[in-house]
Amino acid sequence: MDMADPSNSALRQLPAVATVLAAADVLPLLDVHGRVATTEAIRHVLEQARAAILRGATAVPDIAAVVFAAGAWLAARRSTLRPLFNLTGTVLHTNLGRAVLAEAAIAAATEAMRHPLALEYDLDEGGRGERDDHVRGLLRELTGAEDATLVNNNAAAVLLCLNTLAAGRGAVVSRGELIEIGGAFRMPDIMARAGALMVEVGTTNRTHAADYQRAMDADTGVVLKVHTSNYRIQGFTAEVGARELAGIAAGAGVPLLNDLGSGSLVDLSAHGLAREATVREAVAEGANLVTFSGDKLLGGPQAGFIVGDGALIEAINRNPLKRALRVDKIRLAAIEATLRLYQDPDRLAERLPTLRFLGRTRDAIAAQAARLRDPVGNRLGGGFRVEVGDCASQVGSGALPMDTLASAALALHPAGSQRTLEDLATRLRALPRPVIGRITDGALHLDLRCLDEAEEALFLANLDALAP
Ligand SMILES: *Cc1c(COP(=O)(O)O)cnc(C)c1O
Repeated sequence: MDMADPSNSALRQLPAVATVLAAADVLPLLDVHGRVATTEAIRHVLEQARAAILRGATAVPDIAAVVFAAGAWLAARRSTLRPLFNLTGTVLHTNLGRAVLAEAAIAAATEAMRHPLALEYDLDEGGRGERDDHVRGLLRELTGAEDATLVNNNAAAVLLCLNTLAAGRGAVVSRGELIEIGGAFRMPDIMARAGALMVEVGTTNRTHAADYQRAMDADTGVVLKVHTSNYRIQGFTAEVGARELAGIAAGAGVPLLNDLGSGSLVDLSAHGLAREATVREAVAEGANLVTFSGDKLLGGPQAGFIVGDGALIEAINRNPLKRALRVDKIRLAAIEATLRLYQDPDRLAERLPTLRFLGRTRDAIAAQAARLRDPVGNRLGGGFRVEVGDCASQVGSGALPMDTLASAALALHPAGSQRTLEDLATRLRALPRPVIGRITDGALHLDLRCLDEAEEALFLANLDALAP
């Protein structure tokens, strides 16, 4: 570069990386991020400044400005897996991690991480044990099934059951139950990957007992009943209930697999929700195997449970795929602790966040919204008007799809045109603890159903960090 170039002297005024690193201002960054990342950040900021000067910029950042920019750059690289406030109104939001775990489950998982534990070790005999045994008895007790096993998630549970019972054989299923769940779980595809030959019976809206009976022969490996989790077929419809289907399958000597999806272990109508068959009822109806998720209505970590006939569970456990789909010790500990909460039904709703959130009344949520309206308004500044409004929460994850829960929201209305709703949503997502709401009807709605009252102060303090 030419010595006469005025940018050259500006370039020479830029501090060196080593100079910035030696400055006292940088100590907090070194403390949090370490030497390697902090050096990289400073180098990045100085390169940007150099490029700006070469483009004609005249302002030269001093050490404090470089450290500040480096801090911002490091902050922008913070974990994207950090906790957030789910104010979408969907309690079991698959994209936001579904169920929030109970304190007992969190404590159990933490202990399982910190210490060795008898994962596959029999403490009575001093020899080898089975990892499933820690929850087998609990699952039997809570569902009435003869035996139980568990895998990574319910999709894996269905895959494993189909593969065990119907590889190279027929799997009979109603055309009205060929579901697709979010995240590319499609029943025909899962059947194909399990090696089962799909035998569709009936029509989209009507399937009869005779349809199943005609379809079964010596090559049938399983009859499948699938909970239509996220849709309803209404109008001129007919389906064969699980109890009747169990009789038909038993008559043909074929096992019945009932995939419940979001199986519940308790009667939800006692908690103000619509009534759904419980896992215990599905077992009592005569299904040979019942599958359900750990992180839907059950309120635990991701898992897939298989309960049913002892001989079939044994065959499933012998399938080499079981080993590939097993759960780890951290989740197993959290699952066990979650299931134990169900042994004390009187205190379940206060201990299990999923049930606590689902059970909150509209009045309690509206009172919370009224309490937070002004503090939130003050933190948003003059650009927004904050109102308390009615809204409808959803259970989510395909559970009770037609059932909404009366709730209350803070509706953030842009007062002028200077800030768009999308811009506000972006600023809320950039907070130390991101706040996720829903834009409808010209406002950003924050459904407060999933904001624990104990977290209100934290929620407001977090808003103090809103970018101007
Ligand atoms: C949710 C669901 C699944 C998949 O369960 P995951 O735990 O998400 O793997 C399978 N079948 C039905 C009917 C479901 O609702």
